[in-house]
Amino acid sequence: MKTIRFSDGTTVPALGQGTWMMAEQPQRRANELAALRAGIELGMTLIDTAEMYGDGESERLVGEAITGIRDGVFLVSKAYPQNASQARLATACEASLQRLGTDRLDLYLLHWRGSVPLVETVEAMSRLVDAGKILRWGVSNLDTDDMEQLIAAGGSACASNQILYNLTRRSPEHDLLPWLTDHRIPIMAYSPVEQGRLLHHRQLVDVAARIGATPAQVALAWTMRSGDLIAIPKAASVEHVRENRAAADLELSADDLAALDTAFPRPRDRLPLEML
Ligand code: NDP
Repeated sequence: MKTIRFSDGTTVPALGQGTWMMAEQPQRRANELAALRAGIELGMTLIDTAEMYGDGESERLVGEAITGIRDGVFLVSKAYPQNASQARLATACEASLQRLGTDRLDLYLLHWRGSVPLVETVEAMSRLVDAGKILRWGVSNLDTDDMEQLIAAGGSACASNQILYNLTRRSPEHDLLPWLTDHRIPIMAYSPVEQGRLLHHRQLVDVAARIGATPAQVALAWTMRSGDLIAIPKAASVEHVRENRAAADLELSADDLAALDTAFPRPRDRLPLEML
């Protein structure tokens, strides 16, 4: 499995597992647990969740999936913006830890920017690091100007920015991805298969058929092509997890990349960072 290195030297797999919309239907729970566990066994040991997902139920599901194997997993969770204050972040984090059945998060993210000043969130995150509740912190859905403001607010310890990035959402290539790369802040790409909407796109299907891969594998391999980005697809079946895992070993040729560039061109003008 390809790995991505955080600035503190810690490495994580370039392919992790998302969990949004899991734990919302009891009849799917067994398959979701099996999928997460299969993914961990296959090396997709970075798991992304959030207090928002299923109103905490996603964290509970992840907690169950990692029972007995916590140390082999890199756990990422996220706080609501309204909880990212000095007064509330420690409580929100403690509740996430309880639901996850663990004593620390590997990475804790501000889910998106709200009205709490960044300087206050940075301070609250630093306190959680000092208390050993989180090993590092980062952000999500912050555009380039937000990142500049984060650094100005003392946030140079930010370990990652989790953003919407896939073949149909290429605007971050204009300046956000280069900015993050220059600052050595690993990028996490969420919704890497555009929540499944991307997978029936004709040209993607054609490229996949030509190289004997599946559309999901091509979309994921494309997202991870730079070598400095973590993709976190959500898959609720063992079959999808196995299929996605193979994408980490798929190298797209210059011809494949050119065909995808033509089918999914980068927008000519920069757009504000989109979020789902
Ligand atoms: P994804 O792009 O990962 O798509 C998930 C959908 O694709 C599911 O319906 C899944 O089906 C399907 N899928 C996955 N693999 C395959 C496959 N091999 N073949 C066919 N279909 C497949 O969307 P998400 O929005 O879930 O993004 C991934 C993760 O990123 C989230 O789960 C969450 O952890 C994070 N995220 C973060 C956000 C943020 O604001 N920070 C916002 C959105 C997501 P099935 O479930 O049936 O396997």
